Amino acid sequence: MKRVENKVILITGGAMGMGRTHSELLASEGAWVFVADRDAAEGQATVDRIRKSGGKADFIALDVTAEGEWNAAIGRILNAAGRIDVLINNAGILVLKPVQDTTNAEWDRIFDVNVRSVFLGTRAVIPAMRTQGRGNIINISSIYGLVGAPGASAYQASKGAVRLFTKSCAVDLAPFNIRVNSVHPGVIETPMTKDLLAPADQRKAVLGPTLLGRAARPEEVSQAVLFLASDESSFVHGAELVVDGGYTAN
Ligand code: NAP
Repeated sequence: MKRVENKVILITGGAMGMGRTHSELLASEGAWVFVADRDAAEGQATVDRIRKSGGKADFIALDVTAEGEWNAAIGRILNAAGRIDVLINNAGILVLKPVQDTTNAEWDRIFDVNVRSVFLGTRAVIPAMRTQGRGNIINISSIYGLVGAPGASAYQASKGAVRLFTKSCAVDLAPFNIRVNSVHPGVIETPMTKDLLAPADQRKAVLGPTLLGRAARPEEVSQAVLFLASDESSFVHGAELVVDGGYTAN
């Protein structure tokens, strides 16, 4: 028996970065993964790679800020699979600006993509999960939703909001047997952090608080997501799973 055998999983931002490695690992562990992203070419490429290695996956075009697209995506999954076991709210963007330089438009955009999307996705899956009598929602926050760092105020506020929204949903959705948890990655090598981790002196500064002294591979976070998506975490609810090489331990 694989660890998420036959589970139907929707993951947002599944085309690139950690979303891609989460999708690939979950499919290799038996899930039917619906890879949702606004980038159709890369999303389909992720699906093709999964299918080539024997996994089950489909691409869904979804801009997580568009409510109508959420409803269409959930409808398509229910038509195809008859249920939705796990929603992973992973899509996100990073704006690196100190608070004094952040514009209203940047603030609004980051809250739209990183926070409102999590609300829209959560609300969209609740009816199906209630009908099923069980569900599982995994929200990708960040260490930047736990502690401060220089020059990322809007991003940090958005990830802090995801952290507490998760706990609030854990309270509201427990009566429906819907588990809700957040994941807090540290510094991970993905397209998102390419500019953050260069040049060398900036890389050293960003990685400074990481006790293990390195950035992580996306696959190292995928293992935590797999645990939360599986029934191995059946009593984990309203929790924050930190995967940061010790960044927040000091
Ligand atoms: P990434 O490499 O930039 O990948 C993010 C994916 O989400 C991309 O495919 C992107 O598509 C997609 N996306 C962005 N906006 C979207 C929208 N409106 N609708 C649908 N898809 C959208 O990012 P990552 O580093 O893997 O990060 C994944 C998650 O982990 C994010 O929530 C991020 O904040 C969080 N995180 C990352 C780190 C890190 O160090 N990398 C650390 C902590 C937390 P496009 O390419 O078209 O933009």
